[in-house]
Amino acid sequence: MLVDYHLHTVFSRHATGSMEDYLDKVRRLGIEEVCFTEHTSRQYLPEEFCHQIPSAWMQENELSIYLEQLAAAAKTTSIRIKRGLEVDYFAGYEEPLGEFLDSLPLDFALGTVHFLPMYQMQYISLIEAEPTALLLQYLDYTKKAIESGLFDSLAHIHLGWQAVPWPKGEDGKAARDALGEVVAAALRQDMCLEVNTRAFNFEGYGTSQAYGRFLEMITDYGVPVTLGSDAHAPKDVGRNYSEALRTLKHYGILEVATFEKRKRQMVPIGDRLLKAAGTK
Ligand SMILES: [Zn+2]
Ligand SMILES: [Zn+2]
Repeated sequence: MLVDYHLHTVFSRHATGSMEDYLDKVRRLGIEEVCFTEHTSRQYLPEEFCHQIPSAWMQENELSIYLEQLAAAAKTTSIRIKRGLEVDYFAGYEEPLGEFLDSLPLDFALGTVHFLPMYQMQYISLIEAEPTALLLQYLDYTKKAIESGLFDSLAHIHLGWQAVPWPKGEDGKAARDALGEVVAAALRQDMCLEVNTRAFNFEGYGTSQAYGRFLEMITDYGVPVTLGSDAHAPKDVGRNYSEALRTLKHYGILEVATFEKRKRQMVPIGDRLLKAAGTK
């Protein structure tokens, strides 16, 4: 089955395209199931913390409109549409976050770490700091997000090693151990990690070697994955799928997770899917 579990429309405030525009593209690609995952966080954080988030994200009063639009869109198409959100994790706010997620009719909660409080809430790739320290802080914070047990999957862990060059020598070993702890935490929590196909653009310091290291650990630990393009415009739906799916197969990852009312079901990635995904 062909799925894309990471899509942003205008609701996320820095993406373009309506749900209809996205579904048009989804239909043309032959993708059978999608999950919209708009950026939210203002909805669960106290006001004094909210204003520290440097990005606009979905405004508080838009969430109910978003959920209504999802329900309406689902009635117009045979594409299966899942209700998701991409929500920032911040240590110390687990309780309101849990209550927020429990109060919503969601299929999928995608956890995410974009901003690190110990670096003045800057976006990870904009932080100027000692590279190894930054990577280790990022991985440790990501592990905390996983251990909160609040999410179904954790988004784009590659942001860490895209922001800084993968360290060498002893530091490289420490980073590798820290990444191993992140993957082990996901296994303990019985949750997914995301294969975010934007990673295959190899932006910043991202490399196929670093991504391969991550996929190898996923295979070793047997952690389930979700698959998503992180599209911020309809043209990016299913981005890099050919390469990503070939790579997953190479690492023996033959299934991806789908969700309904936050219950996971694994579906096989077949050859048919590889052919259908001829998009870059
Ligand atoms: Zn994100
Ligand atoms: Zn995203």
